Amino acid sequence: MTTIRPMVAGNWKMNGTTAALREPRLLAGILRGVKLKCDVLICPPATLIRRAKSVMRGSKVKVGGQDCHAAISGAHTGDISADMLKDAGATAVIVGHSERRTNHKETSAQVAAKAQAAHKSGITAIICIGETLDERKAGKTLAVLSEQIKASIPSGCTAANTVVAYEPVWAIGTGLTPTVAEIAEAHAHIRAELSTAMPGEGPSTRILYGGSVKPSNAAELMSVANVNGALVGGASLKAVDFIGIIKAYL
Ligand code: PEP
Repeated sequence: MTTIRPMVAGNWKMNGTTAALREPRLLAGILRGVKLKCDVLICPPATLIRRAKSVMRGSKVKVGGQDCHAAISGAHTGDISADMLKDAGATAVIVGHSERRTNHKETSAQVAAKAQAAHKSGITAIICIGETLDERKAGKTLAVLSEQIKASIPSGCTAANTVVAYEPVWAIGTGLTPTVAEIAEAHAHIRAELSTAMPGEGPSTRILYGGSVKPSNAAELMSVANVNGALVGGASLKAVDFIGIIKAYL
């Protein structure tokens, strides 16, 4: 059986100015000397990446971005490239978050191009997939996941440069989570699909669960088969809550 080192990643979304840097500072302090059994990543707004990295210098906590453009540079006002994120200190970038897919009408083809851009820049792509509530109610969850995997995961993905995050859209920021059985079914399905999407790499690729993960449910959610960590939104903003989730791997 392949041993997979889990990852707990925090997505700050559009939250945080300079004052919020006390949280990663606190996080790094709490984790100093702790033998972690998982990788820890925080993805603050791009404006804070360099400073977050600096306040956590010497810590095991890594910093990532929340989105990138598919191009390295060019006439794309307001966008940010994977090269720029890397230059600021990011080691990873989230692509295809449901908020980007919905609010910015991003397609899976665009998500795949962004993941490829991340790889070209030498950073890990955290590729998000997940069904809406209507799709779940219509019994289409597994079909939606298959379709998103096929179209969002570009060639060249490896277990080292790619993480897949399963985030049911209806569980994000709502306090709702699927049942353990539903998560197990979705993750087993994703694992099976990865054998085609990422030949030879699927069994060792991390599949994170995301959607209302908090300290009180982390241990249960993280113990589900094929769940190799968490992508955390709201509960990643406060170091004490984020640590409460990381504890599932201590
Ligand atoms: C997310 O935005 O990726 C997320 C999982 O949010 P929350 O943990 O707040 O549901």
